[in-house]
Amino acid sequence: MGINIGVCALQGDVSEHIMAFKAALSASGQEGEVFSFRRAMDIPRCDVIVLPGGESTTISRLLRKNEMYGPLRAFKGGIFATCAGMVLIGREVDDPRVEPLGIMDITVGRNAFGRQRDSCEMAVTIIGDERPFCGYFIRAPVITSVGPEAVPLCYADRVVGAVQGPHMALSFHPELGGDLRLHLLFLKRLGADTTAP
Ligand code: GLN
Repeated sequence: MGINIGVCALQGDVSEHIMAFKAALSASGQEGEVFSFRRAMDIPRCDVIVLPGGESTTISRLLRKNEMYGPLRAFKGGIFATCAGMVLIGREVDDPRVEPLGIMDITVGRNAFGRQRDSCEMAVTIIGDERPFCGYFIRAPVITSVGPEAVPLCYADRVVGAVQGPHMALSFHPELGGDLRLHLLFLKRLGADTTAP
C-alpha cells in the first residue's frame, strides 16, 4: 500500500509541491499518490499533509471557514509545512490575524527577512548534511524559538527549519529548485518515532 500525500490547496503553490513529492516518491522507490485537497472530509485519507506557502493570514481564514482546524490538529500523520505553512504549524505567531495550529513546538515570526530581502536565495545548512542547500526565501518567516518538543534542522544565520516526530517545518521553499533532499529526509522520518534530525 502506498503513501497518500495530500497538498492543502486553499491557497499557495500547490502544483510545485505535487511535482516535488511525486519526484521524491519515485527517487526513494516508494509507491504513493500525491493529490490536492480543499475540504476537511479529505483529511482522513491522507497519510501526509503538505501545508504550502502563500499568505498565512488568508490560509488561516480559509482553514477556519472550511472547519479544518479541528481535523488538522487531530491528524496523526506527518505534516510538511513550508513558509506560510510553517507560520501556521507552530504554537505561537507574532501576528494575531493568524491562528496557529499548535502542532509543532516552535514560535514563528512572519516576514522576518526584511524588505530588501523580500525574496532571495540563501545557502541553508541542514544538520547532518555537509552539502549546503539552496533555499528560496519569499517573504519568509523565521523560527524564533524551538522546543523542547521540536529540534532545529536548518540554519541560514538563523533557525529556518525544524522537525518534531514526523513533522517538518521550513521557512523557505524546498519544492522549488529540484533538490529533493529535504523531501527525502521527510519521507524517511515518517513513522520513525524520533525527534532528532
Ligand atoms: N509572508 C507570508 C506569510 O507570512 C509567507 C510567504 C510565503 O509563503 N512565501 O504568510
